[in-house]
Amino acid sequence: MKLVFLGPPGAGKGTQAAKLAENFNLKHASTGDIFRAAVASGSDLGNTVKSYLDNGKLVSDDLTAKVVGEMVLDRESDFILDGFPRTIPQAELLDNMLEERGQSLDGVIYFSLDNEDAVERLTGRRVCDNCGRNFHVKFMPPDKEGVCDDCGGSLIVRSDSSLDIVQQRLQEYDAKTKPLIDYYSNKGELKTVDASDSPDTVRAEAEKIISTITDSE
Ligand code: AMP
Repeated sequence: MKLVFLGPPGAGKGTQAAKLAENFNLKHASTGDIFRAAVASGSDLGNTVKSYLDNGKLVSDDLTAKVVGEMVLDRESDFILDGFPRTIPQAELLDNMLEERGQSLDGVIYFSLDNEDAVERLTGRRVCDNCGRNFHVKFMPPDKEGVCDDCGGSLIVRSDSSLDIVQQRLQEYDAKTKPLIDYYSNKGELKTVDASDSPDTVRAEAEKIISTITDSE
């Protein structure tokens, strides 16, 4: 099964994608995670994309599509694409890359959230600098402020979670990614989940959608 998860930063689609991928035995393929890992490793790819990530800007369509082709489509047959495509040209490149491989998407799930909620969620995010576990100062606070419940590591603000960068990311989303809602809706592939609900409710809704897709295959 081949799925795309769409939605603004902060909608929780990464967290949902990780859990749902596990439940349905799919590969969770996050372009944000791929790029962050590349930056951390200091690879050529990492050096090329670092300034885009630090400034909340989108990496170029061609480079991002190439990375997805090589690291996801060439390796996996069942996956959730989380964070790709993010522009109309990327969606067209994805269609072409799948067609070249004799494949197609099975569905697109859109996690909807308004910008105000997205800002609150994103700026409150904290991540453990040791084990990578995510927290939120309001919605998922650690037992002890600034300290990871699991490993005792320090909780830090991800470099793209400051208010100005968050606003930049949302602007990029509104201008470049939002048009994908119509793109996939016109193709009849879009299913919407209200991402402002609790994580469990959101997951249950998404699970229902994926099960329906599985049943119709
Ligand atoms: P994310 O974790 O999905 O919010 O992605 C973090 C950052 O990685 C984004 O702000 C972009 O700089 C970059 N990125 C991730 N996915 C894409 C994409 N599909 N196209 C362009 N840039 C991307």
